[in-house]
Amino acid sequence: MRISKNFWLSELTKSPTAERFGISNDPSSEHLVNLTVVTHEILQPVREHFGVITVNSGYRSPTLNTKVGGSKTSQHCNGEAADFESSRISNPKLAAWIAKNLDFDQLILEFYDGKDPNSGWIHCSYKKDGSNRKKTMTALKIRGKTQYKQGLLS
Ligand SMILES: [Zn+2]
Repeated sequence: MRISKNFWLSELTKSPTAERFGISNDPSSEHLVNLTVVTHEILQPVREHFGVITVNSGYRSPTLNTKVGGSKTSQHCNGEAADFESSRISNPKLAAWIAKNLDFDQLILEFYDGKDPNSGWIHCSYKKDGSNRKKTMTALKIRGKTQYKQGLLS
């Protein structure tokens, strides 16, 4: 099922982990609406500006989210968030473009190592009820532990 000009629902529900462990990952109708909104508001504008992007994770059923070690309050479980990256622009530059040009709830530059332009990915969420906080953060791995810093570090 196509959910925007360039995105298929399967891109936002596919998960190698779900396949491997036989975990169901079908969104409810409410979560499907949220996935469609995040696609229209975030993924499609990024696609139109930078070309093809790879979606690493969209919807996660609670079972799948636990399996991949996601946070208990993950917006992925509501279909409100997507993780993605582009081979044409570094993650810090892509995050900066989103922060400047799009409305969003949370934008996280995840695990960019400061050297390899393709390291890490972008997490971005969108809430259709208009309560978007435009909160930016950077997730870093420091001695094996995840730390979150306010703002987008590059
Ligand atoms: Zn994420």
